[in-house]
Amino acid sequence: MKTFALAGNPNCGKTTLFNALTGSTAHVGNWPGVTVDKREGVYKGKEEKIAIIDLPGIYSLSPYTPEEVVSRNYILDEKPDGIINIVDATNLERNLYLTTQILEMDVPVIIALNMMDEVEKVGDSIDVKALEKAVGVPVVAISALRKSGIAELMSRAAAMSADRKGATVLTGTLTGKIERARQFFAQQEVASPLFHAIKMLESDEIELKHDGATELLAEISAGEDLEAQIADERYKYISTNFSSAKSKKSREVLTRSDKIDKALTHRIWALPIFAVILFLIFHLTFSENLFYLNGFTESQAWLPTLFDPVEDGGLGWQENFGTKLLACIYDGAVFSPGVILTNLLNFVLDYISEGITLLISVCHGAPWVESLIVDAVLGGIFAVLGFLPQILTLFLAFSILEDTGYMARVAFVLDRIFRRFGLSGRAFMPMIMGFGCSLPAMANTRTLADEKERTATVRVIPFFSCGAKLPILTAMSGGILAVFGVGNVDAITYGMYLAGIVIAICAVLFMRSTSLKGETPPFIMELPAYHMPGFRNLMLHLWDKTKHFIKKAFTIIFASTVIIWLLQSFSWGWEFLLQDAQALFEADPVKWASLEGVEGMVNVRANESILGSLGMFIQPLFTPLGFGSQLGKSVGWVFAVAAITGLVAKENVIATFGALAAVVAGQFIDWEAGGGDVAAAVAMISGTGITVPAIISFIIFNMTTIPCFAACATAKAELPKGKFKWTLLFWVVTSYLVSAMVYTVGSWWWTLFIWLGVIAVIVTFIVLRNIGVFDIVKIFKRKKKSNKQAEE
Ligand code: GDP
Ligand code: MG
Repeated sequence: MKTFALAGNPNCGKTTLFNALTGSTAHVGNWPGVTVDKREGVYKGKEEKIAIIDLPGIYSLSPYTPEEVVSRNYILDEKPDGIINIVDATNLERNLYLTTQILEMDVPVIIALNMMDEVEKVGDSIDVKALEKAVGVPVVAISALRKSGIAELMSRAAAMSADRKGATVLTGTLTGKIERARQFFAQQEVASPLFHAIKMLESDEIELKHDGATELLAEISAGEDLEAQIADERYKYISTNFSSAKSKKSREVLTRSDKIDKALTHRIWALPIFAVILFLIFHLTFSENLFYLNGFTESQAWLPTLFDPVEDGGLGWQENFGTKLLACIYDGAVFSPGVILTNLLNFVLDYISEGITLLISVCHGAPWVESLIVDAVLGGIFAVLGFLPQILTLFLAFSILEDTGYMARVAFVLDRIFRRFGLSGRAFMPMIMGFGCSLPAMANTRTLADEKERTATVRVIPFFSCGAKLPILTAMSGGILAVFGVGNVDAITYGMYLAGIVIAICAVLFMRSTSLKGETPPFIMELPAYHMPGFRNLMLHLWDKTKHFIKKAFTIIFASTVIIWLLQSFSWGWEFLLQDAQALFEADPVKWASLEGVEGMVNVRANESILGSLGMFIQPLFTPLGFGSQLGKSVGWVFAVAAITGLVAKENVIATFGALAAVVAGQFIDWEAGGGDVAAAVAMISGTGITVPAIISFIIFNMTTIPCFAACATAKAELPKGKFKWTLLFWVVTSYLVSAMVYTVGSWWWTLFIWLGVIAVIVTFIVLRNIGVFDIVKIFKRKKKSNKQAEE
C-alpha cells in the first residue's frame, strides 16, 4: 500500500481533506494548530488503497515548535511515497512559501489547490495550468469541504512516478553556494541533499549538527546573512510569478472582514463583547427563563405555571402525556434550548425508568436486586445522562465560535492580557478546549514552544470546567436554588466558570513568578479568514462527544455506581441495610414521621455501611473545607465520598449523589417529590444540613482538584519529565487552599482579612525575592563573613 502525507500551512484544510479522504472524524477547527500530532487513515480508491497521514500544519520546514518537528521528521525519516501539499488558494502567496521548500526534497509532490469554492465565490480565478507548468509538479484544484476534485487528486497522485529529484526556485548568486553545500551532503550520502544544503545555508540548527557543517557555512556565507537572502528570494519568486489578480468583489470581502475585525478586536470593546457572548451561550444553555418574560426574580413572576393549583398561581392542569410534553418547553417561563432538550431527554428517561421499576415490582425480585437497579443503575447513570443535552449545547456553541474564526480573534485580543500573567495568546486555545475536555486540551499545548509556559498551561487546564464537571455545577446550583431560594442556575453556573478562570490566572501568575519563571515567547499568529461553520463538521463534533459520553456512562460510571451502591448498602458483616420506608413508618410512626408517604427503600443505618465507616474515616480531612462532618448530622461524609469518587471520572460526583440520595433522603426528606439529578442534590443538601458556603467550596474543590484518571495520564505524558508529581501536589494544594478560603470567608466574613494578610505576605515575599532583595542580604552576609576572616 502506498503512503501519502498531507502537508500544508496551519488552517489550510488538511484535516478536512483527511476526513474527506478517509471518512474519519478528526477534529477540524478554524484555528491554526488544531492538529498537533500526525494521524493515519486509509483512502479506498477505485483501484488501490492508499494510506493517508495528516501532519500538523507548518509555515516552513525550519522547525521551532514541537509540532513543526513532527512534520519535518516525518517527511524526512519515514519517506512517504508522496506528499500532497495542500495550498489554501485564497492565500496563495503565503502558502507557496512552504511549497518552495517541499519541492526541494527528493520526493514526489502533488499540489492540492484547496478552497477553490471560496475563490470562485468571490469571482477570482487561478490559472491552474500555468501554476503546474511553473512548479513542475501536478496541481489539482479541489474543495475539501465540498468534496470536489478529490477523485482526480488521488488518481493523479497515484500515477506520480516514484523518483523525483528535488528542485529549487533559488537562483542567481545563490546557485553556486547551494551547489557547494549540496556536494557536502551528497558525500555524506543523506537523502535529499539539496534540501539539507539549503536548510544549512538558512542556519538551520538541526543541519548545523552535522560534522563540519558550521565551518562550511562560515566559509560559504563569508559574513553574508544567507537566511534572510533565501527567504527574500523565495518571496520574490512567488510574487513575480503568482501574485493572483484579485477581483473587485474579493477586495470587498477583505474590507468587510477587516471591518468586522476592527470591532471584534477593538482595544476597549473586544473583551466586553467576548464576555457578553459567553454569557449568552450560558444563558441559552442553562436559563429557565429565556426571555426574562417572567421578571428577573421569583417575586416578579406573574406567568402561570401549568400544574400548580389555581390559587397558587398555576393553571391547575392535569398531568398527561401532552401537557407534560408542553411543560418541557414552558412551565411558568419559557426555557432555554439547553433546558428544553434536557427536559425532553428526562421525559423519555422517566418513562423508561418507570417501566423498569414496574417490571421489577411485577417480577418480585429480591429487595437488594430492586434497590441495585433502581438506586444504583437508574439513579446513577440517568442522573449523568440527563446532562448530555446541556453539555452538547455548550459544546456546539464553542465549536461554532471556533469554526467561524472568532476564537482566533479572541486569542489575539487576550494576548495583551495573557502577557501580564506570563502566558502568550497561544495558551488561550488549549484553555478554551479545556471547557470541553482536558485530554485534547492538554495535547494541544504542544503548540506552545516554551516548556515552562506549557507546564503552567497543562496544570491550569483542569480549572477550566470540563463537560463532565458541568453536572456538578448545575445540580448543585439547582440544589441551592431549591433549598435556600437564592441565586439562579445560569448565574451561579456562569459564576463558577468565571471562578475557575480566576483561579487559573492566579495560579499561572504564581507559577510564572516562582517555580516556572521565564520569558513569554512572542505570539505570532495570523488571523484565519471568517468561515461559515460547516454543518457536517459541527455534527461530527457533537456525535463524537455523544459517543464518548455514552460510552463512559455505561462503562466507568456504571461500574463506579454499582461499587458505591454495594459499599453503601451493606455493612462490614455483609448485612443488607436498606429497609422499606413504609414498613419502617408503620412500625414506629413517631420516630419515622419523616418517612410518611416515602416510597421504596431507604437506608436509615447508613453510618453502619462500609462506605459510611470509610467516609467517616476520611471526613475530618474535609472539615476545614466545610463538607466533611456536618454539625449535628451524622451523614456529612457523603460529600467527602462523592469528591473521592470524582477522581475516577468527574461524572461520578453526581452519579454518587444519585446513589447516595436514597441514603440521606429517606431520613430527612421525601425525594420522590422532585425529579432526577437536582432532586438528588436537594436530598443531599437538606439531608446533610450543608451550608451555601460549604456547597460552593465543594464545587470549587471538585473543579480544581486532581482531574479524572484519564486527564492525569495525559498530563503525565505531556509534561516534561519529573514534573508530574509536582503537578499532582499542585492540584491538591490549590484545591484545598481555595476551597478552605471560600468556605471560611463565606461562613465568617471577617476571615477574609486573615486570608488577605497571608496572601499579602506571600506576594511580598515573592516580589522581594524576584527583585533580588534576598540576594543583597546574602551578599551582605558573605561580605561580613569574609571581612571577619580577613581580620583573623
Ligand atoms: P487544518 O488546520 O489544515 O487541518 O485545517 P482544517 O481542516 O481544520 O480546516 C480549517 C478551516 O477551513 C475549517 O473551518 C474548514 O471548515 C475550512 N475549510 C477546509 N477546506 C475548505 C474548503 O475547501 N472550502 C472552504 N470554504 N472551507 C474549507
Ligand atoms: Mg488540522
